[in-house]
Amino acid sequence: MTDWVKSAWRNKPRVQMPEYTDEAALNAVEAQLSKYPPLVFAGETKTLKDQLAAASRGEAFLLQGGDCAESFAEFGADQIRDTFKVMLQMAMVLTFGAKVPVIKVGRMAGQFAKPRSAPTETANGVELPSYRGDIINGFDFTPEARIPDPDRMLQAYTQAAASLNLLRAYAKGGFADVNRVHAWTLGYTEADEAEKYRDMATRIQDALDFMNAAGMSAANNNNLKTVDFYTSHEALLLEYEEALTRVDSTSGSTIAGSGHMIWIGDRTRQPDGAHVEFCSGVSNPLGLKCGPTTTAEDLKILMQKLNPNNEAGRLTLIARFGAGKVRDHLPRLIEAVKEAGANVVWSCDPMHGNTIKSESGYKTRPFESVLQEVQEFFAVHREYGTIPGGVHFEMTGKDVTECTGGAIEVTDENLADRYHTACDPRLNASQSLELAFLVAEELSK
Ligand code: PEP
Ligand code: MN
Repeated sequence: MTDWVKSAWRNKPRVQMPEYTDEAALNAVEAQLSKYPPLVFAGETKTLKDQLAAASRGEAFLLQGGDCAESFAEFGADQIRDTFKVMLQMAMVLTFGAKVPVIKVGRMAGQFAKPRSAPTETANGVELPSYRGDIINGFDFTPEARIPDPDRMLQAYTQAAASLNLLRAYAKGGFADVNRVHAWTLGYTEADEAEKYRDMATRIQDALDFMNAAGMSAANNNNLKTVDFYTSHEALLLEYEEALTRVDSTSGSTIAGSGHMIWIGDRTRQPDGAHVEFCSGVSNPLGLKCGPTTTAEDLKILMQKLNPNNEAGRLTLIARFGAGKVRDHLPRLIEAVKEAGANVVWSCDPMHGNTIKSESGYKTRPFESVLQEVQEFFAVHREYGTIPGGVHFEMTGKDVTECTGGAIEVTDENLADRYHTACDPRLNASQSLELAFLVAEELSK
């Protein structure tokens, strides 16, 4: 857009953003971040957009996943490695099912700011401002921790830069060799509980054996030992996003330098609001969460504002309705997209419409509901002749107990064992891989 300026969001109504009290400190942080290098290069965001354009045509499939909220306390190499590793395993299984390339996008290296359903939280009779993600305030339930602190943006930037550095090393340095990745998957299917996935794992092994025998091994084919891996997060904290916005010197386009893909949450997608205004002007691939309250009219306006040139790969609609509700909501949005003749990638987030409070008091998501929503999403697309282009999961490579169910079952009573999320419950490593096998079955139908 020619007349867009990166600060224009400041004149629009904003929701879900903190009120910083120390304006001088905020200005100093913004000035500093504005001088720092961007985390991503415009050429990479363009490549991702081209790959997403392929997903919009059914020639690729998007796998987006990672933490609900990255945390400063949990930051470390193991955390990053384990999530990256399980995403590679999932991508391989999905590639086998879909027979198209899988685009790997982490909710990583920048996923720090959280919208909340209520501005305050109460515990033991004490009411405090809600936790809004480590980039904004602290998780500890104390009045001091909950004060928004602009300096946290600098720590988030540093953590994102270090995470991305390691991800790039893993992606290109030999860690991502298909044979290694599949060996990990075979380890999983050896377990009695995962027996039903053994057949597909064996078929993948057969394909690899054939390729090795035919001379198409990882040793002489770079595509088999390296991957492209992209980062994404919700563009919620606009002071941070604006400060990292850069004009690319080679193409002249303006990009959000905070990550490859950014998305607009279900609570911040007001067509005349600050978040839509900001995102409309950067040229990165964008996600737009679509929930039960998304109307066909709003979607049409949003598609017009966010993708006026109807560029394929620019806009991914991330449907998140809840199991049992996809049929009530997805058809009107599919019709709106058809009427507008819009190019979009349809992705399914089966997490955010399926959050419940367990008997034990933990916020959880039943694996069966997550799977059911994905199946409904595929079924509706089959009916309408449209393309299910991707999935979006909250997941971790760690063996946490946050979502119930799965073949290696997490019960309600287990939730207390390893419940580590800073925000919403994530699928653990085996639940994530199992879901990939089940989605692969859908894709091969
Ligand atoms: C999220 O992705 O963590 C999130 C808050 O999603 P939504 O905006 O769809 O509720
Ligand atoms: Mn979440």
